[in-house]
Amino acid sequence: MQNTGIRQDPGGPRPALGASTDPGPRAAPGASTATPTHCPYCALQCGMNLTPVGGGTVAVSERADFPVNRGALCGKGRTAPEVLASGARLTSPLVRSDDGTLVPAGWDEALDRIARNLLLTRTEYGADALGVFGGGGLTNEKAYALGKFARVVLGTSQIDYNGRFCMSSAAAAGTRAFGLDRGLPFPLEDVPRTGCVILVGSNPAETMPPSLRYFTELRENGGTLIVVDPRRTRTAEQADLHLAPRPGTDLALALGLLHLVVAEGRVDEAYVEERTSGWEEARAAAMAHWPEYVERITGVSVPELREAVRLFCTPEAAMVLTARGPEQQAKGTDTVGAWINLCLATGRAGRPRSGYGCLTGQGNGQGGREHGQKADQLPGYRRLTDPAARRHVAGVWGVDPDSLPGPGRSAYELLDALGTDIRSLLVMGSNPVVSAPRAAHVEGRLRSLDFLAVCDVVLSETAALADVVLPVTQWAEETGTTTSLEGRVLLRRRAITPPDGVRGDLEVLHGLAVRLGVERGFPTDPEEVFEELRRASAGGPADYSGIDYRRLAEEDGVFWPCPAPGDEDAVPHPGTPRLFLDRFATDDGRARFVPVAHRPSAEEPDAEYPVLLTTGRVVAQYQSGAQTRRVAELNAAAPGPFVQLHPRLAARLGAAEGDPLAVVSRRGRAVAPARITAGIRPDTVFMPFHWPGEGRANTLTNPALDPTSRMPEFKVCAVRVETVPR
Ligand code: SF4
Repeated sequence: MQNTGIRQDPGGPRPALGASTDPGPRAAPGASTATPTHCPYCALQCGMNLTPVGGGTVAVSERADFPVNRGALCGKGRTAPEVLASGARLTSPLVRSDDGTLVPAGWDEALDRIARNLLLTRTEYGADALGVFGGGGLTNEKAYALGKFARVVLGTSQIDYNGRFCMSSAAAAGTRAFGLDRGLPFPLEDVPRTGCVILVGSNPAETMPPSLRYFTELRENGGTLIVVDPRRTRTAEQADLHLAPRPGTDLALALGLLHLVVAEGRVDEAYVEERTSGWEEARAAAMAHWPEYVERITGVSVPELREAVRLFCTPEAAMVLTARGPEQQAKGTDTVGAWINLCLATGRAGRPRSGYGCLTGQGNGQGGREHGQKADQLPGYRRLTDPAARRHVAGVWGVDPDSLPGPGRSAYELLDALGTDIRSLLVMGSNPVVSAPRAAHVEGRLRSLDFLAVCDVVLSETAALADVVLPVTQWAEETGTTTSLEGRVLLRRRAITPPDGVRGDLEVLHGLAVRLGVERGFPTDPEEVFEELRRASAGGPADYSGIDYRRLAEEDGVFWPCPAPGDEDAVPHPGTPRLFLDRFATDDGRARFVPVAHRPSAEEPDAEYPVLLTTGRVVAQYQSGAQTRRVAELNAAAPGPFVQLHPRLAARLGAAEGDPLAVVSRRGRAVAPARITAGIRPDTVFMPFHWPGEGRANTLTNPALDPTSRMPEFKVCAVRVETVPR
């Protein structure tokens, strides 16, 4: 696996790798009109039309009838078809040859090799030596089939996915407080109708630009927007109030606000009495966080804290929305919990136009965590440790409940175990060489595997390390469902025929299952998989049993939970756009306060590493960049990594705009040009994480894990910054 070179297989005149002879995306046979579908990238899942144009290619056009984005698309969505026709597209399986290079191979040879190696590993080391790593971009059908494949075919507990890196702390905190995790428990259309929104660690102006109009409309309607972010982002520029805490201190910030809510007599006592439990303990914890103490921790002044409380508490309704900022911390669950406590104390949850929500990031980040590719879950958002859940899902799968493995390792822990406890790995829809924390270490662990197989559309940095690479279909070439950040289940439709030589992920799992002795149970038709998923989810927290493809096509999405109609029901369940209005999903129907307290980040600045690093995204790239770095327009807009820093820090370093800077943490060193702006705290630098190589931000990040969600601390670590001679 060390040699990542590619050479032409001398055995046959196959097309050059990465240079597809395909002229571009082609229309599905017979297709002549627009196919309504959804964007392949983020969790907003914008509606778009794909229309065949001359030469068999497709164009993206606006789809004004889809209510979430009403036709608006960001540059990533607009240019998404370019990846379909990219010269980097893989159109043949690749296998590692004796000289260490990847060479083209037939599908049978590639699948045989994977199956043989998985069997060898299992025979020698046991089933838990097999690892499976999925992705938050996989459709519900793929996520479901992958989880089933790991547990039924491989018999391993070692499956997790990159969504663990994305929103798992919010999921854990939401489950803890409300008894259920659905990113937004209300549709985005409620945002402009509330009175105040606190956006915590979220930059939708860059991560999901079409959603910004909801916040613009909020302000046009007289509401206010508070943004909490160490940087003055494009979103923060539009806020009525921007609070810029030191990275890793937003837990203290939320506690300080709750302290003031209590001190100023703004607690909604009747709501707390009627709809919550645990208030006294949470109140006591908050009262230990005096505003002046919070100011010292966070850098946010007491007058700013008071103003935030006034703006949040004055209107009849208000919301808190969190994203990766508070979540990607070693105390992410408690940090989100602190913001939820603020909502509960002020009666802003489970009421019309009020609530707490998480702005999920990945395209199917929500559905991906509901249907079984997470280490501790079974389909329908069931817990793997729940005997009734095991019985139900095992019944659908036709296996003995006792044969299902227990919970496995979380994503980073799984990657960290590669080459030791885990000897062979199957990766589907993920590029951890770029996206995992402590990425150089993770890359080393991947290289130390006995066997690595990767399914991807291009030769990603992770695929380049593999023993076998399988070229798979992309969003416009296949049908499947996703679940958006609103909990709206959507149908993505196939609009074009995939290139020759490419197969769908469901076909891959079917082919491997058959080779591993499981002839039935892995259909390749996504609708057939969804029908089984419906049954597996029935009665679970994320109940999809009342949803089918026909309905999704007709209704343009259905919010879960949506149980199948019972014998008494005259009409189908309408779906559930708004959760918790009558009761929360806890046993007693009450939301649970959880007492939390400020604690430092896993790594605080010291003499050797005196600066804080925070990481994130830019508007023109997406996640590890495996797709968007193949789009010329996006690369022109965002060609590479950078180090954003304040003029005072730049002056101290003697650095000018564009100078190469080395950012060094305890885990490694990354080099990127300086981008100097007053819109960041002087004690903090920011790097986007979309690129591999010497500018890879995740070389630096800290894999310290939240004890509940097992989310790594991407958002804060200690670094030093040095100038580099040109
Ligand atoms: Fe696609 Fe997200 Fe952009 Fe919408 S905001 S077009 S879903 S990347």
